[in-house]
Amino acid sequence: MRHAVDLSGRVAIVTGANSGIGRGIALVLAAAGARVVVNHRPNEDSARRGAEVVQEIVSAGGQAVAAPADISSEDDVEHLFRLASDHFQTVDILVNNAGIEQPAAIQDMTLAQWQKVIDTNLTGQFLCARAAARMFLSRSTPPPAGEAAGKIIFISSVHEVIPWAFQANYAASKGGVSLLMQSLAQELAPMKIRVNSVAPGAIRTPINAPAWNTPDSMKELLKLIPYGRIGEPEDVARAVAWLASDDSDYVTGTTLFVDGGMTLYPEFRGAG
Ligand code: NAD
Repeated sequence: MRHAVDLSGRVAIVTGANSGIGRGIALVLAAAGARVVVNHRPNEDSARRGAEVVQEIVSAGGQAVAAPADISSEDDVEHLFRLASDHFQTVDILVNNAGIEQPAAIQDMTLAQWQKVIDTNLTGQFLCARAAARMFLSRSTPPPAGEAAGKIIFISSVHEVIPWAFQANYAASKGGVSLLMQSLAQELAPMKIRVNSVAPGAIRTPINAPAWNTPDSMKELLKLIPYGRIGEPEDVARAVAWLASDDSDYVTGTTLFVDGGMTLYPEFRGAG
């Protein structure tokens, strides 16, 4: 497997790294030389899967540590960044990946379903970005030319621009991430902190298994993807690795869509 970007010596926190896209990002960043903090939810199953990701990285010769934290909790996020800096001295890269879905028709959506998604996908990403900004801004020496003082990468979704019936809470959270990311990018650029998003389309992970785990659902899904295949976690991870590297040093405030063309309105091909 080729990994062109070099993240040697960098420390990266990846939230929700015990599963799906987060796991893929943790493995690719580690393969590029980063030391990785593998965040997982503080429950037994997530801890076991987080430990497996750490083990995979260490077995391949990399460095990683597992870090339990519910990213929607202010105290847990403080603890996560403390654990990272105690273990690896600093943090250079935050990948704000953890996210959930709780679908419901709007007339049936409970406040708890609305709140849980916003708390995780938007407030959780804010809490982690704030902690990262505080850490990056506390450095006493400016970065050398061609390097940033820190990088924040949000994992958004094509649903930051595509409306999503029965997932109003999710689409609202990702739409919020879009302007959160751009506002932070504008605010932090003078301090040499780069802030960007990666917006995946349909990626083969547990969060959207019903969309791809039967031949019929896969056939329907592929109608939405001009490139003709579902995405894999590594497709997203490679884009994240580039944004986390100094190869993208002049890139900030951008959303990179990794979606096989899903945002190109494929249903309009030959119609309209
Ligand atoms: P996933 O369910 O496999 O992974 C999500 C991870 O987030 C899990 O490890 C989960 O335990 C963790 N998590 C959830 N709430 C948390 C919390 N409060 N604190 C810490 N960790 C928490 O799903 P995935 O597809 O890998 O999703 C990762 C990100 O990618 C999400 O933000 C999701 O919205 C986004 N995304 C996924 C797709 C897709 O097609 N899979 C498409 C667009 C965007």
